[in-house]
Amino acid sequence: MSFTIKNVLLATDDGYTTSDVQVVDGKITAIASNLEVVGNAIDGKNKLLLPGFVNAHTHSSEMWQRGVISAYPLELWLAELYDFAPIDTEKVYLSALGTAVETLLSGGTSVVDHLILIPGEELETIACAVRAYKEVGIRAFVAPLIQDESLTAGIPSGESSQTHEPFFRSTKATLQLIEEAVRQFHRPEEGVNILVAPTGIQLCTDALFEGCIELSDRYNLCRHSHLLETKAQEKLAQQKYGCTAVTHLKRIGYLGDRTSLAHCVWLNDADIAILAETQSTVVHNPLSNLRLGSGIAPILKYRQAGVNVTFGCDGASSNDSQDLLEAIKIGSILHNVTDFDYRQWITPRQAVEMASLGGVKGLNSADQLGSITVGKQADLVMYDLTNLSLLPRTDPIGLLVLGRPTNVVNSAWVNGKQIIANGQVTTINVDKLREELFNLSEWVSKRQSQTVGQIERHYRTVMGLI
Ligand SMILES: [Zn+2]
Repeated sequence: MSFTIKNVLLATDDGYTTSDVQVVDGKITAIASNLEVVGNAIDGKNKLLLPGFVNAHTHSSEMWQRGVISAYPLELWLAELYDFAPIDTEKVYLSALGTAVETLLSGGTSVVDHLILIPGEELETIACAVRAYKEVGIRAFVAPLIQDESLTAGIPSGESSQTHEPFFRSTKATLQLIEEAVRQFHRPEEGVNILVAPTGIQLCTDALFEGCIELSDRYNLCRHSHLLETKAQEKLAQQKYGCTAVTHLKRIGYLGDRTSLAHCVWLNDADIAILAETQSTVVHNPLSNLRLGSGIAPILKYRQAGVNVTFGCDGASSNDSQDLLEAIKIGSILHNVTDFDYRQWITPRQAVEMASLGGVKGLNSADQLGSITVGKQADLVMYDLTNLSLLPRTDPIGLLVLGRPTNVVNSAWVNGKQIIANGQVTTINVDKLREELFNLSEWVSKRQSQTVGQIERHYRTVMGLI
């Protein structure tokens, strides 16, 4: 795990410089010209070296339904997703491999997988995802997705008094499950981390959040959750707590500098101030928010308030890919249409910092990851600047973020271990993965979700669509 990259392009504060980068035992030990070669010599000529990005929110097993779910808002989309989601652990393993590979090939070296658990096989689900991430070698933050209320509870009741089926597993059993997952799989030094990750206020009781806080404090775990993805959730929070979801989460102590929150579309100014004050991280999932019509998160407001923001692809059924560079591009330029003051617009260099340092901040790892700095761990990505999509030569970072880079990742390292070389994943057989994804699936077109049939009328009434 020692190597020296020779003559690679590095970003400086206001431009670029050509330099050598030395890595010993997984850590960056020197950055300077004409360094002696330690370990393997890597040719960095005409290549750009950046810190690895974080795919800071996804759900790997959604890969099996990408491109197929109807044009629905989240609440109905979820119903269709779950109606057609009887997947097995082998599929969980394969889609985690696929998520890891697509993340790597679009500049990511870490992934936060808000992992949907197969009922009755929860620990096996986690084991399969962990196995896949270890085999690929990507840094994994596995956040088992938990809830303790049934799906219909996530829709505001409006005028009607709704009753909901109790969730099939108790709060206590769910928390025990997460504790067992921590015991079995939480190995930060091996690149595998378990997070506490209630799905969100819409489907979780306070008891579940409080149990997660307790586990997070006891085992030093990062915290993750969806937050106010849709207008319906904003209404639901008022109905459930009589205040905003952010005020409530602050009150129960869920927010903090190792808490990352996906989406954050429907927050008001007071909520934004709370996120800044608690140093919570916002994970911006622009493609999913567009696909499900959830709204445009006020990302520039967050940045101006000092809230840390990073990017995620979100699950592949609401994106419908895992191309992190695409999420970074759309997540940057989307706000140019909502905020007229162009001086606040996100620049390509700011986007790169948000995707790397911003990502690891929310995972409590900024002292070890997220920048090319002596002493930090070598989670690095090297881009081929002779690739057709990065030519002719202009501003490499500008074109990487604003262009449509295609097959541009030449090499990637995680903790100093090379897992992509010459544009190819070196740790697993990607052809075999393609074959298995192909063989275990079939072309799908029209399908009918039973649950959508049952809840659509209520949804339309509550949301004022009837
Ligand atoms: Zn999500």
